[in-house]
Amino acid sequence: MTKITAIGSLPPIGEVPEKMLAQVVRQDRFGDPRTAFQVEEIKIPEIKPHEVLIGAMAAGINFNNVWAARGIPIDVITTRQKQGEPYDFHIGGSDVSGIVYAVGSQVDNVKIGDEVVVHHGYWSLDDPWIEAGKDPMIAPSAQIWGYNTNFGSFGQFCIAQGHAVLPKAEHLTWEEAAAPTLVGTTAYRMLFGWEGNVLKQGDLVLVWGGSGGLGSQAIQLAAVHGAKAVAVVSDDERGEYCKRLGAVGYINRKHFNHWGIPPHWTDLEGQREWTKGCRAFGAAIWDVVGERRNPDIVFEHPGESTIPTSIFVCEAGGMVVICAGTTGYSAMVDLRYHWVRQKRLQGSHGTNDEQARAYNQLVRDGKIDPCLGQVYSFEEIGKAHYDMEKGEEVFGNRVALVGASSTGMGRK
Ligand code: NAP
Repeated sequence: MTKITAIGSLPPIGEVPEKMLAQVVRQDRFGDPRTAFQVEEIKIPEIKPHEVLIGAMAAGINFNNVWAARGIPIDVITTRQKQGEPYDFHIGGSDVSGIVYAVGSQVDNVKIGDEVVVHHGYWSLDDPWIEAGKDPMIAPSAQIWGYNTNFGSFGQFCIAQGHAVLPKAEHLTWEEAAAPTLVGTTAYRMLFGWEGNVLKQGDLVLVWGGSGGLGSQAIQLAAVHGAKAVAVVSDDERGEYCKRLGAVGYINRKHFNHWGIPPHWTDLEGQREWTKGCRAFGAAIWDVVGERRNPDIVFEHPGESTIPTSIFVCEAGGMVVICAGTTGYSAMVDLRYHWVRQKRLQGSHGTNDEQARAYNQLVRDGKIDPCLGQVYSFEEIGKAHYDMEKGEEVFGNRVALVGASSTGMGRK
């Protein structure tokens, strides 16, 4: 057994040390991500037959581990313990670029030495739902790798299920490759996963948080497929960034103030004011596209603040597709706009293998930019989550270096 390797390097390929350094969250540190994450030495567990051990070169930062660090809305450690896991800590990290160090006996899609990324769809391979041929990401056992599960990419070695391991795009650096898979595959499922409202050429898509992780990928997916994306952002610099990614234009949400739960429908004056705000926002979409057209798909994740507007502006028969409730979960839908105009409010979560492979191929073909944002050191993983939660400097996807040393890329 070799000794613990220094951060910024990995041991010779295939040589697995007994212990590693990891950014660890414990229950008595739940709270501010800057203190919830601490570097600790952790024993590297044996992999199971369907698993792969990956030496992490770089780790993508995602919002899910802001929640894990805070212990809300669920305590991932207690949840796993109830499911029989022995560990009293959490090593998160749902995006990685790295090198395969060990392969379980039932894995046949990768070998030691392969350069890979991992998608975040995770499930029990013997789940009856999946054995029946249904979408695994809706199965009762479906989870998010590196959030619901332990030994994600914030350790020098992470453990992934074989089916989720994908070839890394050769033209990308380690930090670029670690940036987009979670948000990109999630965006892919949102836009292409829901039969009846699959994104088509010529469609109009409204993308909330256009410059962020999900938004920057959604804009590009729309543009690559010949659809028009209108971004919503909170300042002009973010809007211009979205245009460079292929958005036809942007709306600055700071110019409006009708956000949040609308007044009750019996409050006629309040409703009048609220509807005025919504109509003005809808007209801003028309201004951007140059015609009176409503979005066929509204790409949602803020939730409570924006859902009433999303439902209002969505085209008849269109879809509001949502994968999060960053601003809150008590989103209000005025059913008059919903049922009469026959709109769809669709939840979406994670990715399945097929969607992840399709998305990864677009990255490998150079059609989708990973949108590398700020690059952090391994020691700064807590700070990276703190910055993400604050919502400043939201340009693409943040990454932390683990086994790789900086190539000087990324937004400073
Ligand atoms: P991000 O990079 O931080 O981007 C979030 C965006 O939200 C920002 O660009 C911000 O843009 C916008 N925003 C913030 N406050 C807002 C408000 N009050 N109203 C409207 N927009 C607001 O985060 P992300 O990686 O895109 O993730 C976003 C959410 O999706 C997180 O909650 C994350 O956990 C979730 N998510 C879920 C899945 C899944 O599989 N279910 C996968 C990926 C992400 P402006 O301030 O410029 O408007």
